[in-house]
Amino acid sequence: MKFEVTILGSSSATPVHNRNPTAQLLNCNEKFYLIDCAEGTQQQLIKFGLKAAKIDYIFISHLHGDHYFGLIGLLSTMHLNGRIKPLHLFGPAAIQEILELQFKHSDTTLKYELIYHVTNPAEAEVILVNQDVTVETIILNHRIPCTGFKFTEKKRLRKLIVSKLEEQNVAIELYPLLKRGLDLTLPNGTVLKNEAYTTDSATPKTYAYCSDTLFDESYFASISNCDTLYHEATFLHDMLDRANETHHTTALQAAQVAQAVGAKNLLIGHFSSRYKTLNELLEEAQSVFENTSLAVEGTTFQI
Ligand SMILES: [Zn+2]
Ligand SMILES: [Zn+2]
Repeated sequence: MKFEVTILGSSSATPVHNRNPTAQLLNCNEKFYLIDCAEGTQQQLIKFGLKAAKIDYIFISHLHGDHYFGLIGLLSTMHLNGRIKPLHLFGPAAIQEILELQFKHSDTTLKYELIYHVTNPAEAEVILVNQDVTVETIILNHRIPCTGFKFTEKKRLRKLIVSKLEEQNVAIELYPLLKRGLDLTLPNGTVLKNEAYTTDSATPKTYAYCSDTLFDESYFASISNCDTLYHEATFLHDMLDRANETHHTTALQAAQVAQAVGAKNLLIGHFSSRYKTLNELLEEAQSVFENTSLAVEGTTFQI
């Protein structure tokens, strides 16, 4: 099953040459989840051959423009392209008011249903459960209310050892019972113990998206042992005072978070426009946490 994330934007605050503000597209079993939607996100989707029409869920971490200024454009394009299937939008309460004002003054009535799900900035909650994934919020510490999102794959069915089942002439119609972990009693009375004819499926993987935040241990428990952690790393550590002032994190601190929570991989992003190249940010993070990658535009990471 696919579980991967493509980076659409890696810049903080403002777009700079080659870098767009934040957006990411998560593919979980060919279902698409857009995480933040900065200005230019539509163009980035087109550039990387990703289809906006396939997105059924959008998650907005907070209402700073570099995380949602692309939303009205994307939602309008979906409307103009004749979308009729519903779209789920998760984010701060005020997002509905903002969008409805824009739709009102452009005399737009969407052809599809836009279903708002308000995130609670005070408490981590499960906000979505479907057949592929569970999504929970992560309470971050930013200048305005801000939530990250943790995506956990659903546990898959057990895998059949088909050669052994064929030896016993087990009817294919009975395979689903074995996949669900049940033992089988054959017509001749033989009992087939599930463990002998199936193997466990892979342990579900977790992707944690930590949008804008101050380094703060209060959210560590929500992201413990995640497989891939995305964490903002706006500044180098020599700018720590500025990071604290603006409620952001340094590359060194992002790596310390990954290490403290036992993440397997770290992606860093949300880079300040002051950095023309990103090597120093990467090296700083890798000095603490080796499995760090730059979450830059067009890169896809397997979770
Ligand atoms: Zn930001
Ligand atoms: Zn912000």
